[in-house]
Amino acid sequence: MSGRAALHHCPYCGDEDLVPEEGAGIKGQGYPWACLSCTRVFRVSYVGLRSASFGGAPSSPTEGTT
Ligand SMILES: [Zn+2]
Repeated sequence: MSGRAALHHCPYCGDEDLVPEEGAGIKGQGYPWACLSCTRVFRVSYVGLRSASFGGAPSSPTEGTT
């Protein structure tokens, strides 16, 4: 997966009228989306992988904290 993955719901109001917000993409910080319902523009960015995704106790996504 590269570029922009499709969102399905606005994280603020829950509406489904989301459109890509062009011209504001910043490399490494994700791509912006605009919600046509609440007019918010927000960014979705990749943080990382959880270190214990399967069968382990919940842990911090950052390393070196154990
Ligand atoms: Zn919204």
